[in-house]
Amino acid sequence: MGVLDRAKEVSGISDSEESPLPYVCLACETTFEVQHHSCPVCGSYDLRCSRWVKQ
Ligand SMILES: [Zn+2]
Repeated sequence: MGVLDRAKEVSGISDSEESPLPYVCLACETTFEVQHHSCPVCGSYDLRCSRWVKQ
């Protein structure tokens, strides 16, 4: 029973590792930990949550 509990914890950790940088610039594809108003790399305003653009 304890094994099943640990398996749930492991699956939760792997889920968070799926997208360590949740935001992405659609212009230069740079990823960020936080959401910027505009891309600090190229100045584009096309910043999206990476979950939305991931196919
Ligand atoms: Zn950019």
